[in-house]
Amino acid sequence: MDRFGLTKNQLLKGVQCPKCNRIGMERVHGRWFCQCKAESKDAHINGLRDYALLINNWISNKDARDFLNIENREVTRYLLSQLKVPTTGKGKGAKYNIGDLVISS
Ligand SMILES: [Zn+2]
Repeated sequence: MDRFGLTKNQLLKGVQCPKCNRIGMERVHGRWFCQCKAESKDAHINGLRDYALLINNWISNKDARDFLNIENREVTRYLLSQLKVPTTGKGKGAKYNIGDLVISS
């Protein structure tokens, strides 16, 4: 992070559209939708990979909500659990290892 002169808070927050690259896809009925009409099932995974590269291989629910700009804790928990990655801790202290995330689409 220091190398780029960035701090966590200066990064754009939200899910990026794989088609037009705009940040801020909205999640509706289990899918991500963009203003350009693109939709994606797993656009958040790209964001998590960025997080792993730029910030940390381990991410908590709160960090993921902040970074992906997701308001709902349960949705975030669902998305993180779907990753099927190693976890540590329980409840609010749970962290997910996203260092080896592979993009499937
Ligand atoms: Zn788009």
